[in-house]
Amino acid sequence: MKKLFPKSKDREKHVSYFKMLESFREDGCPLCSRNKTAANNYIDNLLYENVNDPEIRKRLRESLGFCSVHSQLLLQLSDSFGTAIIYSDLLSQFEKILERNYSRFFQRKKCRVCELLEIEAKENIELLVRYADDPEFKKKFEQSEGLCAAHLIELLTSCTNQRQREYFLSIHKKKIEVLKKDLNELIRKNNYRFHQEKITEAESKSWIKAVNLLNRKF
Ligand SMILES: [Zn+2]
Ligand SMILES: [Zn+2]
Repeated sequence: MKKLFPKSKDREKHVSYFKMLESFREDGCPLCSRNKTAANNYIDNLLYENVNDPEIRKRLRESLGFCSVHSQLLLQLSDSFGTAIIYSDLLSQFEKILERNYSRFFQRKKCRVCELLEIEAKENIELLVRYADDPEFKKKFEQSEGLCAAHLIELLTSCTNQRQREYFLSIHKKKIEVLKKDLNELIRKNNYRFHQEKITEAESKSWIKAVNLLNRKF
């Protein structure tokens, strides 16, 4: 008999499946895009609901704020009040370090957002592996921009069999070839002898795509 309401775990999988499909329509690496949304949600939530949560404040003191990427994300949210509450506390913690032991500065814990994203990234990779044989999923994945270098290598090392690995590898090799072709056309058309030839939209975006593809995350 067909189940009308899936168990909560199935429903969770279902939600992440459709969220992943949505991310395939975004510009750039779908996993980076999901990371960015998750980081935004975490910081937003922190500012609006958990700014005074003792456990969260303790964890932020242990890392003395965020990494440079997530500090910038926090600034972009422009929440002067919530940010002031958090950082007044963090500065007091920094003063203690200055008075006592500089080595504690180097023993700071990892940025909390980065830590959460690592867990989320693992789940996202598992999802890609789990649905690697689902025709609908594959079709939409192939229409995406493809994964950035770091996420692709993570995916390839997480594949459970050679067939899956070859599938993801062949998709990305094709995408890289197209990107290289666009870059080379952009370079060629920058030469004054060919400057009358129109630069396509894909060519005009190729240099941004290439930088994002090899953007080092660690
Ligand atoms: Zn990525
Ligand atoms: Zn971070």
